[in-house]
Amino acid sequence: MTEQRVAIVGAGIAGLHCASILLENGFEVVIFDRENEIGGRMRTKIVDGFQLDRGFHVMQTAYPTAKKVFDHKAMGSRSFDPGALIVDSRKGKQRIRRMADPWRQPIRGILSAFNGFAGMGDLFKVARLRSKVTRGTIDSQFNGEDDTTMEYLRSFGFSQEMIDRFFLPLFSGIFLESDLRTSERMFRFVFRMMSKGRMVLPRDGIGAAPATLAKKIGEERMRLGVRIGSLDPDAVRFRGEAHRFDAVVKAFSEIPENTPTRSVWTIHYDAEKAPFKSKLILLNGDIADPNSLVAHVAIPSNVQPTYAPDGRSLVTVTIVGDRAVAAGIQDASAVDAAARADLGRWFGDGTVSGWRTLDIQNIEMALPETGAGVRLTHKPRNGPGDVIECGDQLLHGSVEGALLSAEKAAEEVMTQKNSQKHVNNLPARRF
Ligand SMILES: Cc1cc2nc3c(=O)[nH]c(=O)nc-3n(C[C@H](O)[C@H](O)[C@H](O)COP(=O)(O)OP(=O)(O)OC[C@H]3O[C@@H](n4cnc5c(N)ncnc54)[C@H](O)[C@@H]3O)c2cc1C
Repeated sequence: MTEQRVAIVGAGIAGLHCASILLENGFEVVIFDRENEIGGRMRTKIVDGFQLDRGFHVMQTAYPTAKKVFDHKAMGSRSFDPGALIVDSRKGKQRIRRMADPWRQPIRGILSAFNGFAGMGDLFKVARLRSKVTRGTIDSQFNGEDDTTMEYLRSFGFSQEMIDRFFLPLFSGIFLESDLRTSERMFRFVFRMMSKGRMVLPRDGIGAAPATLAKKIGEERMRLGVRIGSLDPDAVRFRGEAHRFDAVVKAFSEIPENTPTRSVWTIHYDAEKAPFKSKLILLNGDIADPNSLVAHVAIPSNVQPTYAPDGRSLVTVTIVGDRAVAAGIQDASAVDAAARADLGRWFGDGTVSGWRTLDIQNIEMALPETGAGVRLTHKPRNGPGDVIECGDQLLHGSVEGALLSAEKAAEEVMTQKNSQKHVNNLPARRF
């Protein structure tokens, strides 16, 4: 019997995972991508010996699908410490406080950061939040209420101070929007992942995740630099010609014009010395101040020394796109200047002036819009239409959402092509 040929359009993590499942189940695949490299939104480039990820990007070890797909040991992944440094410039006095571990030891964590000013109420609420989101299945966190994260935190009873100084800088840098309008379901999911696992960086950068999948698939099955003009259930069209396949998987999203999208500016600096030694992320506790734009700062080379050449450190700064727009900042040099103003206040102008700007990335359409009321789900589903679809836009904007959607798409191809008897590689979906 001849093999069934499947075209997969999009070599992001979703398309690659879908392709590798189909290959392992006896299908032949061809993967198309309009870019000349694989990875989609998960890429790493090398500049002067530094590994520069596209955006500040981590993998969560608690993601249930991702942990079956990726072998973090083989990828040499190393983890951030679970906690945070928090900038606090109230009363004109600048401090950087350390929060021990708000996920595993919430009360100790909060006490360490807010000694003196967080009410006991906030301390107990973090503990209650953690216990609430870690109970039950992941699916249960996606059920029920669907308000914004901000409303969820307020109705949970957190003080505005606690929201502004901890939740806002951390989650605006994760959701890539600055008013925490993201569905509370997504917030519960991410908080659960942070409570149950670690944030890690692979040895070869975030691009190692798609590269691992691509290696299993083989270069001979990739057609890079090919933009697919249109897709049908049995053909893809490019350069004016239709190419027939037994099935077609669309592994990308089409965002209609004028749709609000989430964007982010990421700046990578080369520093002779890291401004702090710990493997913690530094959050801007003053982010509610309209003049302070940086959401957070990470030193990937503190976690994974491969990110910088010997004797240097990589400093990665995140400014959420809507904050830059609100401040009227639209070009790379103005974003660099705004970042340096915040960093200079925190670490000293003399220190920061010696840092070399390695890359300024303006990442548009970084995440799908998942506001309150979109009924965000963690149950894989198909996209509309006849062409089988996968990608994070079908579930939620994360590596986990992309991988899970890919499993559903692969399963759908196999069902449609009446090949369920070949299914041998889909892991049981148990959370
Ligand atoms: C800055 C940033 C930080 C992030 N941080 C995290 C994080 O810390 N943790 C986390 O879990 N997730 C994070 N994410 C989200 C995560 O990266 C995405 O959810 C995931 O990579 C989506 O994969 P995908 O395959 O669905 O889509 P994509 O990666 O977007 O892949 C789609 C592919 O389709 C191709 N394509 C599009 N149109 C065509 C066409 N017409 N013809 C051919 N090819 C086409 C594109 O070139 C692209 O390669 C982050 C995203 C960004 C941008």
